[in-house]
Amino acid sequence: MAYIQFLGAAGTVTGSKHLINTNSDTTGKTGFQTLIDCGMFQGPKEWRERNWQNTPIPASEIDAVVLTHAHLDHCGWIPRLVKEGFRGPIYATPATIDLCGILLPDSGHLQEEDAYYYNKQKKSKHDPALPLYTLEEAQECLQYFRPLPPETNKQLCPELSFRFVRAAHILGSSMVELTLQTKGVSRRLLFTGDVGRVRNQGIAPGKVVHSGPTEGETADILVMESTYGNRQHPTDDPRPALAALIRQTAERGGSVVVPAFAVERTQKFVFMLKELIESGQIPRIPVFCDSPMAIQAVEIFMKHTEEYSDETRRLINQYGSPLEWPGFTFASTPEESKKINDSKYPCIIVSSSGMVTGGRIQHHLAQRLPDPRNTIIFIGFQAQGTRGFTIKSGASEVKIFGEIVPIRAQIAAFEQFSDHADTPELLQWLRTFRQKPKTTYLVHGDPAASAQLRDTMSNELGWNVKVAQWMEKVPIS
Ligand SMILES: [Zn+2]
Repeated sequence: MAYIQFLGAAGTVTGSKHLINTNSDTTGKTGFQTLIDCGMFQGPKEWRERNWQNTPIPASEIDAVVLTHAHLDHCGWIPRLVKEGFRGPIYATPATIDLCGILLPDSGHLQEEDAYYYNKQKKSKHDPALPLYTLEEAQECLQYFRPLPPETNKQLCPELSFRFVRAAHILGSSMVELTLQTKGVSRRLLFTGDVGRVRNQGIAPGKVVHSGPTEGETADILVMESTYGNRQHPTDDPRPALAALIRQTAERGGSVVVPAFAVERTQKFVFMLKELIESGQIPRIPVFCDSPMAIQAVEIFMKHTEEYSDETRRLINQYGSPLEWPGFTFASTPEESKKINDSKYPCIIVSSSGMVTGGRIQHHLAQRLPDPRNTIIFIGFQAQGTRGFTIKSGASEVKIFGEIVPIRAQIAAFEQFSDHADTPELLQWLRTFRQKPKTTYLVHGDPAASAQLRDTMSNELGWNVKVAQWMEKVPIS
């Protein structure tokens, strides 16, 4: 009988990897084996260590990978899979492939840097510390990517076909609808990847890509994320409060520093700033996007017009590419980045990494945190143990580049910018299903979030819902 095995994002929010085997008979011959997503484990060490374990079946025996989107917790293990011997096709939407083309090599570069740092400090138990994969290995794996536009059927083998449908999470993001036909029986499987916002622009504003995952789905088996299974996003428009904060900061002669992930969140925030400037809600002060990846990411966004929300389309029709907006500067070289530090007048700096775990944002914060005229605005999730978490939680100082930096700047945070549907949004989307799935498996959530969503779905929808366990095999019956 065919089965699904949960190789990652079960019991945690990272490392998404779900294996479908079309035939598990005991004769020794395995069926066609497809991996839905191939993400890297991030966060606690206990999970990160699993990045070093091989797949339970040899990587060379996996026939194909189908990728939902370009976040590293969904695609970051692909270079390792190729290193272990995988040589099959990796299907993804054209926008996802473009984003992987910058994110995977960058991930390889960071792995190499980390290994170098640990070796220099002699902090590693492993001697010498090795990167999970290198920049070069990440570039090599890109040759196996095969573009497949949304809503286009692809036959993987005689029994199994799939198509991508819109997930509305980030640029290029898709859910995977599979049809499995064995012995005259047809079954539909739906893997959501990450589900984007259902709410409209008023409440989840600034989305570059359109809101709303594809409605009216059917599935015998649904495998769904549960990141926000026990949480709800604020339902008020963040723009008035955001504009007020920026105005007040500029009036007292301070600058605004915004840590943001270089892909998607930076673009989203920059589009919103443009709107606030042009509508006169904030003063026309310089905006600096300081991330080596930001320019490449904007170029990829400009290319994929098919993904835009109506608001983004209107903004670009009216004002053109963000790279050419007057007053907006995208810094790519370290010299350009250093120049921003010399800016003594009020400005807005958007820089990565989003959780201040590395990157150029560290320089900007080291320089601007001690001055009470400045404001630091968080627009993304801050994991415990990161500098971003320390600053956001009201600490009086933080260590950056080995130095203690006093925190005297104003600190603010907005939770409305999430790219994940929360529980009410997930329920709203699930109610559009044409029939109840036989079984829903929840993945990609902390155990408490997954368990609460399971209970909410059984109580409110009457669905049969289970929380997937790591390495668990479930039959496709
Ligand atoms: Zn994601």
